[in-house]
Amino acid sequence: MAVMRNFLLWCSENPTLRTKVPQMSFVQRALKRFMPGEEIDDAITASKEFIDIGIPTVLTRLGEDLQDLSEADEVTNHYLSVIDRIAEEKLDIEISLKLTQLGFNLSEEKTFENFDKIAERAEKLNNVVWIDMEGSEYTQKTINFYKRIKAKRSNVGLCLQSYLFSSHQDLNDLLEVIPNIRLVKGAYNEPHDIALRDKFRVDENYLDLARKMLEASNKDGNRMVFGTQDLKLIEAIKKEADILNYPQGKLEFQMLYGIKPNAQKQLVKEGHIVRVLISYGKSWYPWYMRRLAERPANIAFVLKNIFTK
Ligand SMILES: Cc1cc2nc3c(=O)[nH]c(=O)nc-3n(C[C@H](O)[C@H](O)[C@H](O)COP(=O)(O)OP(=O)(O)OC[C@H]3O[C@@H](n4cnc5c(N)ncnc54)[C@H](O)[C@@H]3O)c2cc1C
Repeated sequence: MAVMRNFLLWCSENPTLRTKVPQMSFVQRALKRFMPGEEIDDAITASKEFIDIGIPTVLTRLGEDLQDLSEADEVTNHYLSVIDRIAEEKLDIEISLKLTQLGFNLSEEKTFENFDKIAERAEKLNNVVWIDMEGSEYTQKTINFYKRIKAKRSNVGLCLQSYLFSSHQDLNDLLEVIPNIRLVKGAYNEPHDIALRDKFRVDENYLDLARKMLEASNKDGNRMVFGTQDLKLIEAIKKEADILNYPQGKLEFQMLYGIKPNAQKQLVKEGHIVRVLISYGKSWYPWYMRRLAERPANIAFVLKNIFTK
């Protein structure tokens, strides 16, 4: 299982595969399970269906590691127009993005300028912008970036990964700025000296971090969110929330589009908040390979599409 995961994560970073695989029609067909389409209209239409059943969404346009800083302006303008559209159509949809989509690998100052524009527009229109967490070469820089933007704007959240050895220290550091955090397990191929590899230990760490986040939220009222499809872990978080007298109706889970839809509805029925993260965009290859790596059984699903029209 670990070999397959590592192989798929290696594929996600391979430049030749990055150009060849997206052209394969059976891969494109299988992709439908994880994203409603490549265009913003696809993501908005899917969001409306979720909103109708009490599940708001978070949208992210796929793309990472820009080659040229001028591309960052296009990405910024795109997100500004999406935020405007969400407000015009009065939809409960938030935004999540990767800093490298805004040029973080090329210029931190320019990235700050662009992100601030997006966060400012979102603030004016009562919306929230989340920052995804990328590979470990960006972890500390992203935390520093978040602390800087959080000092200026309150409507921003950051993703934290429980597989990192540094995650407890990172959380303590972040708690100083009363952060909004989305906790996930982590999706990248990290070396042994940086990240836990054993699922049991990643889950255990997740629950410890979740407990700390719930305690912090009880004290400061900030938004703490749990991004996972792991139903056992979700049960354990619910129990912790009960023990800590976490306010009813405030416990929030975020889950990926296409994964465990019945569990999403059940959580809403129980009175919890669920947001579904919907991805769209043309640069889906690395992101898609990371989804396959999370559950190698998905490969069988992709292969089945070779034989369907
Ligand atoms: C809202 C949200 C935002 C995220 N943002 C980031 C981010 O910014 N940075 C980052 O590194 N990672 C991010 N991730 C991905 C995350 O790190 C995990 O890789 C991913 O969520 C799978 O972990 P899990 O918690 O669901 O637990 P797992 O133990 O991986 O999965 C639990 C169960 O869920 C089901 N499942 C999980 N993934 C899949 C899948 N792809 N296909 C089918 N079934 C599946 C399976 O039944 C599996 O047994 C995000 C995830 C979510 C939900």
